[in-house]
Amino acid sequence: MTLELSYQSKLLSPYQSKLQGWPGLIEAYRSYLPVTEETPVVSLKEGNTPLIPVPAIADKIGRQVEVFVKYDGLNPTGSFKDRGMTLAISKAKEAGAKAVICASTGNTSAAAAAYALRGGMRAFVLIPDGYVALGKLAQALLYGAEVLAIKGNFDQALQIVKDVAKKYPVTLVNSVNPYRLEGQKTGAFELVDTLGDAPDWLCIPVGNAGNITAYWMGFCQYHKSKKCDRLPKMMGFQAAGAAPIVKGYPIAHPETVASAIRIGNPASWKKAIEAQKASQGSFTAVTDEEILEAYRLLASNEGIFCEPASAASVAGLLKIKDQVPRGAKIVCVLTGHGLKDPDVAIKHSHNDHFSQGIEPTTEAVAKIMGL
Ligand SMILES: *Cc1c(COP(=O)(O)O)cnc(C)c1O
Repeated sequence: MTLELSYQSKLLSPYQSKLQGWPGLIEAYRSYLPVTEETPVVSLKEGNTPLIPVPAIADKIGRQVEVFVKYDGLNPTGSFKDRGMTLAISKAKEAGAKAVICASTGNTSAAAAAYALRGGMRAFVLIPDGYVALGKLAQALLYGAEVLAIKGNFDQALQIVKDVAKKYPVTLVNSVNPYRLEGQKTGAFELVDTLGDAPDWLCIPVGNAGNITAYWMGFCQYHKSKKCDRLPKMMGFQAAGAAPIVKGYPIAHPETVASAIRIGNPASWKKAIEAQKASQGSFTAVTDEEILEAYRLLASNEGIFCEPASAASVAGLLKIKDQVPRGAKIVCVLTGHGLKDPDVAIKHSHNDHFSQGIEPTTEAVAKIMGL
């Protein structure tokens, strides 16, 4: 087992690497990825996100467990989708694609728009009209994507883009594109490189089920390469109103405040079940109330602002905390940044220390401060 990152020795001298910093995940993990010297790397230096201890959450579990969050909301477009998109767009460019298309609950469209732009391609994004968080829509628009809001949900949008990609010369960059999962598996590599081995549990929100599948691929590949001795239990969490895997059947009208996981018929359903079984993990549903409670807890007790879907991983861990073995090391993946969804933040902050309309005088301010 080694903690050394391959890019340090292979690509850059230590001095150069200090100057230039992290080279992006394709360069960092090149030997584990389906790229060649000919692949044009389209990168915004994604990856290398922090693994942050969350002691207040560990305290709620007790029994000397250690809990960390993998804060993937700190990727260039604010979600883990950048990990898959850097590779999907690089491979699309290598194949000569001029345009890409995706269906999205928001974050895939933001990532596709940014990386397609960097790669010199057009980006068409289909989103469910009225169900995309404000920050994500703002990103897709500003990156210059061609945004099509359809009167339907994510599952319907995915059907359409699959069909369009089959009939027209446009590359599909949803997670059914295998390069997406190949890129996303680097999240698991980073965890092992940081912790020195795999954690006991990986807690992760599940929507289309691509990320849980990708993490499992990453852990298995590292295990085969002897970079880790162990494999984690894969603990997947779905929103109660959008929990097809937990229930065992597709949900026609998924509903949840966590819009990024508002998906009723996950594309990687089978692979996710395989990962859960092989790792002796589980799938559990968490209510919107539990998600929002974990969301507030992360912000107000740990100083970490993630989007609601991401908080499902922590909500789920707290829900099944009695199953956590003593002394276990647990990682919860925080998939997206809190600023993605400012509406939910303001509506559900439960902060009653917000005073408005105050007279602009020292006295008025001091009085409200209780001085
Ligand atoms: C896409 C997304 C998810 C769900 O990931 P899947 O791979 O679809 O299971 C969870 N959280 C956020 C913030 C996302 O953008």
